[in-house]
Amino acid sequence: MLRLTELTLSLHHADEELPAAICKRLRISPRELIRHVVARRAHDARDKSNIKLIYSVDVNVKDEGTVLARFRKDRNVQPTPNTAYKFITQAPTGIKRPVVVGAGPCGLFVGLILAQMGFRPIILDRGKVVRERTKDTWDLWRRGVLHPESNVQFGEGGAGTFSDGKLYSRIKDPRHLDRKVLTEFVKAGAPPEILTEAHPHIGTFRLVTMVESLRATIEGLGGEYRWQHKVDGLDISVDGAGERRVQGVHLANGEYIEADRVVLAVGHSARDTFAMLHAAGVHVEAKPFSIGVRIEHPQSWIDTSRFGANAGNPILGAAEYHISHHCKNGRTVYSFCMCPGGTVVAATSEEGRVATNGMSQYSRNERNANSGFVVAIDPERDYPGDPLAGLAFQRHWESLAFVAGGSNYKAPAQRVGDFLAGRPSTALGSVVPSYRPGVTPTDLAACLPDFAVEAMREAIPVFGRQIAGYDHPDVVMTGVETRTSSPVRFTRGDDFQSLNTAGLFPAGEGAGYAGGILSAAVDGIKVAEAVARSLMP
Ligand code: FAD
Repeated sequence: MLRLTELTLSLHHADEELPAAICKRLRISPRELIRHVVARRAHDARDKSNIKLIYSVDVNVKDEGTVLARFRKDRNVQPTPNTAYKFITQAPTGIKRPVVVGAGPCGLFVGLILAQMGFRPIILDRGKVVRERTKDTWDLWRRGVLHPESNVQFGEGGAGTFSDGKLYSRIKDPRHLDRKVLTEFVKAGAPPEILTEAHPHIGTFRLVTMVESLRATIEGLGGEYRWQHKVDGLDISVDGAGERRVQGVHLANGEYIEADRVVLAVGHSARDTFAMLHAAGVHVEAKPFSIGVRIEHPQSWIDTSRFGANAGNPILGAAEYHISHHCKNGRTVYSFCMCPGGTVVAATSEEGRVATNGMSQYSRNERNANSGFVVAIDPERDYPGDPLAGLAFQRHWESLAFVAGGSNYKAPAQRVGDFLAGRPSTALGSVVPSYRPGVTPTDLAACLPDFAVEAMREAIPVFGRQIAGYDHPDVVMTGVETRTSSPVRFTRGDDFQSLNTAGLFPAGEGAGYAGGILSAAVDGIKVAEAVARSLMP
């Protein structure tokens, strides 16, 4: 089979135009084309009056050798890559069971791959199974009642469960591990389109049933989950040469589990766990992340700005955007984790704090588009010294946001017009914020660093020139967005183990090795393989 890439057709093309275009491009007759399957479809809407679909197609032709030879210098006509996943080993008998801490996308894929190789992992999570967790999460959104151990961040499925379920990333992935993740997601109930769409998403409802299905698969292969099992200590031995090695984990419920292979896939919000690891002497460094707000626009404005007369076309779906601006004060402002047709969600996991994020359903048909509108920060400039200083930085601004929102888990919000004019909002306008349990109109400058406010004020009109309506005075900003990625990195060596603690495998977003569902899951596969390798004779 050969793969033909960058095949461009009009948005409105008829079905039969695709095989015709394949034949034309490969210079073959229709009789020589045996079969074609779309491998990927993207769109190019830079010229909204002439939007194009861009296909990658896997093609069977009668004489493949001749066609490949004809195009041997053409990188858009190549043999189809083999994206099938190959297990690196199978578990020998009598091996101690590896422990995986965290059942987010990373921990789930560590667990799945280990289980598929026969290692029968034990997966621990501080939170609850996804259905119970959903009720607890909605308690915050509906009634302003936070459950610190069961919320948007903690519990089965991890941080991405109540999300837009965007499944793309910019990681380098020469082994096509992303394909393994997407294939397992489809087996677990994700829409098959995620295998072909250039920007696939799942939406939150499906994610809930998918993590249940993954759980059944892992358990069927001998893996085991333990819920409400928070790891609050590590048992580390130190030998005569000063070599540190993990021997087991202590749990908040008083239990101890012996384990010489421990994967830490605890996500970016496990601040107490980060502090415990630091106190236990595990190597950790501060890393950059971003701070800002969620910004909401009517989705129809974004659709029209991006797609013009083609707004609403079902092939295009709800429009997305990615924008960035380098400011005079040296800061970069950018859009983050855009959720078309979605809602802004309360994403705190700590009492007395407010943090925002976004989610949507598969249909992406809520009234507003939202995205993070954030400013990049780094340890050297903004939280120097202590490796955990980024956590303190996040907590500081989240606490101020809690107070500015009214100290009841409502979030502070402001009209863009008021933010630009430097005056507090006293009421909101035509754009209705979606955040629950509600917002308090106020001055967001009270809960953001001055340099961030300055940079955001500069960027808004710039973005308004790129997306009509972005800077409309009634556009709503809700704060604060502080958890764009982990503020720390638990650095690991080439063997994926902690730099100074053997047997400990920092993984996923919390460890600083992923940003998003897909990259966390891909990292999970790599870590599972590293654990398996370390256990083989
Ligand atoms: P997590 O998903 O954070 O999982 C960590 C798990 O560890 C949790 O289940 C937690 O309970 C558990 N844990 C923590 N500490 C302990 C402990 N001490 N003991 C036992 N268990 C512990 N990304 C995308 O790619 N697309 C999106 O559309 C998207 N939308 C998002 C929307 C929201 C509201 C949020 C919050 C995040 C979103 N993200 C999205 C980001 C994405 O969810 C994360 O990048 C991803 O979940 C990270 O995976 P992870 O497995 O590394 O960590």
